[in-house]
Amino acid sequence: MTDTLHLVCPHCDAVNRLPAARLDDNPTCGQCRQALFTGAPLDLTEANFDRHIGRNELPVVVDFWAPWCGPCRAMAPAFAQTARELEPAARLAKVDTESQQQLAARFNIRSIPTLAIFKGGREIARQSGAMDAGTLKRWIKTHC
Ligand SMILES: [Zn+2]
Repeated sequence: MTDTLHLVCPHCDAVNRLPAARLDDNPTCGQCRQALFTGAPLDLTEANFDRHIGRNELPVVVDFWAPWCGPCRAMAPAFAQTARELEPAARLAKVDTESQQQLAARFNIRSIPTLAIFKGGREIARQSGAMDAGTLKRWIKTHC
């Protein structure tokens, strides 16, 4: 395990350098002073996606969804619950494929929901279809 970690702030997108030992101490952002972990999925857009995927040294689990997709909406509470349970071991994020069509095209999202895990800027796992909280957590832990 490395001694320091880079973490991207979910509020101001600043890259924070944090001792790994402080991960569990509710760390705050050096720039905006807000909590680096909010217990809720983070909305990613074309504007901040690359920064969060590329600079976070934690695994980032992305839910590609859309507001009109029933199974996506049904899975949202399970995804939020998983964010609360897995932070600070992983960052959970959402991409609205309706408003972020360029990201959906770039990652070749053909069905939703599609979940993808990114680590070190690379996609390391992907699965389509809704999952319940238990399945989702197990799937993430298998890869992180
Ligand atoms: Zn910040």
